[in-house]
Amino acid sequence: MTTLKTKHTLWIATLLFAFLSQWHVHGQKVNKKPSLNGKNIVFVYGGWKGHKPAESVDVFLPKLEAEGANVKVFNSLDAYTDKELMDDTDLIIQTWTMGDLSKEQLNGLKRAVLNGTGLAGWHGGLGDSFRNNIQYQFMVGGQFLSHPGGQTEHIVKITNKKDPITKGIKDFQLKTEQYYMLIDPNVQVLATTTFDRDSYKKKGEAGIENKITGSVIPVVWKKNYGKGRVFYSSIGHNMTDFNIPQVMKMQMRGLRWASEGKYMPAENTISPVYK
Ligand SMILES: [Zn+2]
Repeated sequence: MTTLKTKHTLWIATLLFAFLSQWHVHGQKVNKKPSLNGKNIVFVYGGWKGHKPAESVDVFLPKLEAEGANVKVFNSLDAYTDKELMDDTDLIIQTWTMGDLSKEQLNGLKRAVLNGTGLAGWHGGLGDSFRNNIQYQFMVGGQFLSHPGGQTEHIVKITNKKDPITKGIKDFQLKTEQYYMLIDPNVQVLATTTFDRDSYKKKGEAGIENKITGSVIPVVWKKNYGKGRVFYSSIGHNMTDFNIPQVMKMQMRGLRWASEGKYMPAENTISPVYK
């Protein structure tokens, strides 16, 4: 027998269900998380072999495909000159240390990113790619200069704990190359590292590199270039660096974020150091 009280409870439950369902749908629309699912990725690898460009494809390709991305892999910078391909690309991942970018390749890459294609990578594959190309460096927002002491123990400090890329990640220590870089002071820095002479002086480093104790240099940043999103992390001299959960987590989150330039509203990533 259904009592009045039960009817009343059922009625409230129905209303509550309807409300929560709507809220859920609404919430999904508003808070859509960056995702690689269905995204078209162009993965360009090559350049200096010391950074293991081919191995980096082996590490990342399965992860990208497991998340539902359609990945095309190229061992040539000419991928950037294929207008049709670039128009259809959501994210470019580049692991190409040193080398040269021709005028046509630069123009193709610039055009794609200005139109909303993301550009992401790590270490020298994005941050030490084309040393004589200032237009490329402007797009990335930084350029490698030195790694005093080679592979050293150092701490990566998460300086932006609210950004979805670094949220929940704690500071961590690792042994790898600590990149000393030139940085565009307007990029949005998410993590930094502090240089300490004691960590490398025993290896016979001399001169100016011994005088940078206390220097704080960004490790992870994001920025916009036109409609495109650019994500960079300086960690990754060794592919085993990505075995550190925090490193891989930030990298994958950064790739997802950078893939959304054509689909999500632009964020203000300008965070000027000098005001
Ligand atoms: Zn390196």
